[in-house]
Amino acid sequence: MKIVVLKFGGTSVGTISKIKIVADIIAGYKRKKFSVIVVSSAMSGVTNELIKKSEAISGNFSDAEYDVLVSSGEQIACSLIAGRLIHLGYNARSWLAWQIPILTQGIHKNSRIYDINKKKIFNYLKKGGVPIITGFQGINENERVSTIGRGGSDASAILLAKFLKAQRCIIYTDVEGVYTTDPNKLSRARKIKEISYEEMLEMASLGAKVMQPVSIQDARLNRINIEVKSSFIKKPGTLITKRKNIINNKIITGISSTQNDSKVSLIGVKDKPGVAASIFKPLSKNSINVDMVVQNISANGKETDLTFTIKTEDLNKTKKIVKANKDIKFRKLLLKKNVSKISIIGVGMITTPGVTFRMFQTLAKNKINIQVISTSEIKISVLIDKKNTKKALIALHREFKLDD
Ligand code: ADP
Ligand code: ASP
Ligand code: MG
Repeated sequence: MKIVVLKFGGTSVGTISKIKIVADIIAGYKRKKFSVIVVSSAMSGVTNELIKKSEAISGNFSDAEYDVLVSSGEQIACSLIAGRLIHLGYNARSWLAWQIPILTQGIHKNSRIYDINKKKIFNYLKKGGVPIITGFQGINENERVSTIGRGGSDASAILLAKFLKAQRCIIYTDVEGVYTTDPNKLSRARKIKEISYEEMLEMASLGAKVMQPVSIQDARLNRINIEVKSSFIKKPGTLITKRKNIINNKIITGISSTQNDSKVSLIGVKDKPGVAASIFKPLSKNSINVDMVVQNISANGKETDLTFTIKTEDLNKTKKIVKANKDIKFRKLLLKKNVSKISIIGVGMITTPGVTFRMFQTLAKNKINIQVISTSEIKISVLIDKKNTKKALIALHREFKLDD
């Protein structure tokens, strides 16, 4: 059996006419004698609407009920796709993740898929059926519906490809593939033919929402090649694969940027062992994700300044937690909204000296001040004023020859 997993994102199933196009794409694979497994996200905007409803009904909506509510968007999209395929004469049906079941573990809103029961899907494929499976969700050990984080349908597709040993896993979306930077933000962005898991993981974690970061981890661990392509334009997309398969002569593969970041600085913190842990422990307990962290070396050995970034939506909560923290003493708390993190990513920087210098020089030439820096083997991130994001993207894209 030649199994292919096709995943359709929200924009690909955003309207009835788009769902008809999706059904035609699926039919194309059936004609080529593939056994097709379809994973769908909710119609675009639906998940956000459902989240708004949960917030309107209670300021403290139960996480378990949140999962029941927001997972319902996928149910609508899957039944519409299945209905259209049946209309076209195919044997198709929708499957809710719990009916398979797709098993998850971890907390509500942010579970992980750890197993998928192959039996029913496999039997259905053998009979020539096309299963249309709800992405983004599963069922946990308490038999409660669980969701796996925003954008999670990508991971659903990749893990179905793993457990059902698919030959191909194709992520259909509203852009032609993975670009050097978000093509909706920069028209000079270029489609990348092939990208390594490691680079894609960095790009996704650092703001490229075209793929969900967790899904790339799953693909990397299981060595699953992923093709990302457009639902609307018939052109080759991007292959996400292992580093060894790729020939790329560019130093930098892509640039990511974030929105809605905020910077928190604690000035004059009493410097003693364990102080950073005391600051971050209650934040992590409250599921606040701390991103970039810098601690200045204290001049007098007694006090230090500590800066970190968080998502702006967590700013008020962070402020309260830091102020209520009795384990730390500091002189001043500074909060700054509207900062943006720009990251350049590429395995090429491992073997090329001077990349950091070129990045900093380019920003300096454009009069863009760097507030915080963080690096890893294959990425350099800087925090800048949000209003300079576009200017920085344009300049760095040119500097690292991504325009050509
Ligand atoms: P889907 O609904 O198919 O899951 P998403 O909205 O999650 O689609 O992801 C697709 C979007 O990701 C694109 O419309 C694009 O604006 C954005 N994006 C951000 N960075 C990149 C990038 N480097 N390459 C391609 N798209 C990107
Ligand atoms: N519908 C879900 C979301 O909007 C899952 C997904 O799009 O993959 O996050
Ligand atoms: Mg997505």
